[in-house]
Amino acid sequence: FSHFIAQCLIKDFETRPSVTHLLEHPFIKQAHGKEMALGQQLSTLICEQQDLGCKLKTNMARSRRSNSSHRHERINTRKTLIIETSPDDDLVNLEFLDEETIIKHLSKRYDELQIYTYVGDILIALNPFQTLSIYSPQFSKLYHGVKRADNPPHIFATADAAYQGMVTFCKDQCIIISGESGAGKTESAHLIVQHLTFLGKANNRTLREKILQVNPLVEAFGNACTAINDNSSRFGKYLEMKFTPTGAVMGAKISEYLLEKSRVIKQATGEKNFHIFYYIYAGLYHQEKLKKYRLPDKKPPRYIENQHGKVMQDIVSSKLYKEQFDAIQDCFRIIGFTDEVNSVYRILCAILNTGNIEFTAITSQHQTDKSEVIDSNIPTSFSAALLCIGPEELTEALTSHCVVTRGETIIRTNTVDKATDVRDAMSKALYGRLFSWIVNRINALLQPDMNICGMNVGILDIFGFENFKKNSFEQLCINIANEQIQFYFNQHIFALEQMEYQSEGVDASLVEYEDNRPILDMFLQKPMGLLSLLDEESRFPQATDQTLVDKFEDNLRYKYFWRPKRFELCFGIQHYAGKVLYNVNGFLEKNRDTLPADIVVVLRTSENKLLQQLFSSPLTKTGRCQRLVIKVVYGAATLPRQHSTSNNVLYSCPSHCEEGMMRHPEETTNMRRQTVASYFRYSLMDLLSKMVVGQPHFVRCIKPNDDRQALRFFKERVMVQLRYTGILETVNIRRQGYSHRILFEEFVNRYYYLAFRAHQMPDSSKENAVAILERAKLENWVLGKTKVFLKYYHVEQLNLLLREL
Ligand code: ATP
Ligand code: MG
Repeated sequence: FSHFIAQCLIKDFETRPSVTHLLEHPFIKQAHGKEMALGQQLSTLICEQQDLGCKLKTNMARSRRSNSSHRHERINTRKTLIIETSPDDDLVNLEFLDEETIIKHLSKRYDELQIYTYVGDILIALNPFQTLSIYSPQFSKLYHGVKRADNPPHIFATADAAYQGMVTFCKDQCIIISGESGAGKTESAHLIVQHLTFLGKANNRTLREKILQVNPLVEAFGNACTAINDNSSRFGKYLEMKFTPTGAVMGAKISEYLLEKSRVIKQATGEKNFHIFYYIYAGLYHQEKLKKYRLPDKKPPRYIENQHGKVMQDIVSSKLYKEQFDAIQDCFRIIGFTDEVNSVYRILCAILNTGNIEFTAITSQHQTDKSEVIDSNIPTSFSAALLCIGPEELTEALTSHCVVTRGETIIRTNTVDKATDVRDAMSKALYGRLFSWIVNRINALLQPDMNICGMNVGILDIFGFENFKKNSFEQLCINIANEQIQFYFNQHIFALEQMEYQSEGVDASLVEYEDNRPILDMFLQKPMGLLSLLDEESRFPQATDQTLVDKFEDNLRYKYFWRPKRFELCFGIQHYAGKVLYNVNGFLEKNRDTLPADIVVVLRTSENKLLQQLFSSPLTKTGRCQRLVIKVVYGAATLPRQHSTSNNVLYSCPSHCEEGMMRHPEETTNMRRQTVASYFRYSLMDLLSKMVVGQPHFVRCIKPNDDRQALRFFKERVMVQLRYTGILETVNIRRQGYSHRILFEEFVNRYYYLAFRAHQMPDSSKENAVAILERAKLENWVLGKTKVFLKYYHVEQLNLLLREL
C-alpha cells in the first residue's frame, strides 16, 4: 500500500515539482488519517529520493529482512528509505578505464541526479544547477561516522572524513575545493560548514548559528554577479573551523585573499558591483532611509548604475535585494556586531556618493591642469558628512596633492583625470579596508573563548579559473592562484607519492601527469618571472602598457607565453585549464594601486571611530600588514620542521627563498612601495603555509554546461575539465597507488590497540606493524623500508575498527 502511495506521489511530483502540496495529498491523508506526521515524512523522503536519484524502495519487508545492524537501524528510523550505493560510486572500481567510460558513467549518474562521484578519496561534484533536498538533517545523520562505501558519495561524506580524521588523529585537516568559475565551490563550502557544525555538535546553539551566518555575510561583501556566475566569489577565502580535542566546535576564523577592489568603481559589461551595494540601496529605499544616508532617490548612484539603462526600478523593485538586506542585518546581529554596523552602512553609502563626485577643468591664464568639483555636485558634501570629515578638506585632497621637495611642501593641482583617479582610489581603499575590518571583526567575535589548544578543519574556496572575452589584471591574479592550487593538488596526489615509492623501494607503476610547475615558474620566478617584470615596470613613471607588454615578450621565453599579432596590447597564456588572452590595458595602474597620502591624511581626521581604525597606520594583521616568518618560495612554502610529517607536502627550492614583510600595496611608506603583484605573491604563500599543515581532502567541482541549466550534461565541456584537472590520471594513481604512507613507528602508535592490549606498549617495529595489518585483515598493503603503504580505503577501515573497540 505504501508503495502505491509512493508511486502516486512520484507521479504527482513529476508534474508539479513543489513539495508542500504533497502534504495535502488525498492519499497521504486517507492512508494515514490523523497521522499527518507520517504522511509528511513519507512525502519528504520521496522528494529527497527523487533528487538524490537513488532508488527508493518502499518495500517494508526488505527492511525487516535486512540484518546489517547499521543499515537496519537506518531503515527502521527512516521507515521507507533505502539508499543504495552503486559500483560506479567510485570511478576507481570501474573495470574499463578511459575517458569515454568515465564520461559515460558521470553522465548517467548526472541524469539520475547523482551529482557526486568518488575517485578514491577525492570527490567529484557536478553542479546540478537546481535546488536539491539531499542536504536535510536526515542526510546529515546519514553521513555521520559511517564507512564511506555504505552511502552514495556526498559532500557531507568529505566533511565527515575530515572531521573523523581530525578527531581520530588529533590532526588539522584541510578541504580544498577547486573548479572553474560557476562550478559550485562556494555552494560546496557552505554545505561543508553546515555539516561540520552538525558533526561538531555545537552544544551552544548561538555559536552554531553564528558560524552559519559567516559565509552569507562575507559573501554579500565579497561576491558579485559576473558574466559566468551570478554569485561569483571575488576574493579567496580560507575558513578554519575550530574544534576542541573531543571534536566540539568552538569557533571559526576566516582569512581573505585578494579582494577584487576594482569592481567597486567599474564593472565589465553585463557584470555588477559587489552584492552589498544593491542590498543596501534597495533596503534603505524600502525603509525610507535613502535621505538619511544621503543617497539619491531618482537615479541610483553611478557605481551601481545598470549599464543597460533599466536603472532605478531594477534595483528598488527587486524583492530579492530587499530580502537580502534584511538577511544581512540579521547576520550582523547574530554574529554579534553592535552599533558599529551603522558605521559600516555609512561608509558604504559614502562610497556610493563618492562615485558621484564629478570634476571639471579650470582653465585660467596661468594654469590649465587644474580641476574643481562640479558646482551643482553635492555628493562631496554628502560623502564628507557620512565619513565625518570636512567637505573642504575632502575637496582639496581630491583636487590637489602635496609634494615634499628639499624639505619644502608644495601643493600641486590635479587634472580632471587625476582627480577622478584619486576619487576612485579612495573608494577602493575604503571598501578594501572595510572588507578586511569586517572579516577581522567576525574573527574576533568567533574566536574560541576557551583557552583550549584545539584542532581545526580549514576549507578553501577561492575564485575559480576565469576566461572572459576580455581578461585583465584581475583575471591574471585569479588564474595564477588557480595554477597554484592545481600545483598543490599535483604535488600531493602525484609527485610526492611517486617519489616515495622510489625512495622506499616499493614497486608501483608510475603515472604520468601534466606538471604545471613550469607555468608557475614563468609567473613567480624572481627576478625574471611575469610578476617581477610587472613590478619592475610599475616602478618606472614613464612606463606604458605598450612598454610592459614588450618587456613581457622580450623576457618570457616560454612555450606557455605568446604575443598575438592581431591584438596590440595583448598577450596569451597557456594555463593548465586552457588558453587565455590578457589585455594589459591598465595593468600598471592596477598593480601600483596608489592611494595618495593626502586622502589618508584627511580620512584620519574623521570623527568616526571605525574610519579612524581603518586608516590608522600601520595596519595590524587585522588590517593588512603582517610579518611572514615562513620562508617564501614560489610555488610553495617551506615550513618549519615540526610541520613536515609523513603525509605533509614539503616543498623546497632554496634559490627562490626570501623572507619579508607583507604590506598592503596602498601603504605608502619610506620603504619601497609594495605592489599588488608582490602582495599577491605573499598572500599565496600565506595561504599555502596554512594549507600544508593540514591533511588535505580534495573536492573537484565540475560545470556540466555553460548555460546554468539543470540536467544538461555537455560531454565536451566535462571532458575538458576532467582532462585539465587530471582526473583520469587521478583514477589511475588511486587504483594502483598507495595514498597513505605511514612510518612504522607512527603506524604502531596509532593502531596497536587493534592487535595488542593497552598495557603491552609494543615496539614500533616493522613486525608489529605487520601483526596489526594482519589482525585487521587488510589486503593489498605493502611494506617499504620505513613505512607501511596503504590504499586510500585502508585508513578508513582501520579507523572504523578503532572506533568499534
Ligand atoms: P566562482 O569561482 O565564480 O566563485 P563557484 O565555483 O564558487 O564560482 P558557486 O557560486 O558555488 O560557483 O555556484 C554557482 C551556482 O551554481 C550557484 O549559485 C547555484 O545556483 C549553483 N549550484 C552550485 N552547487 C550547487 C548545489 N550543490 N546545489 C544546487 N545548486 C548549486
Ligand atoms: Mg565562489
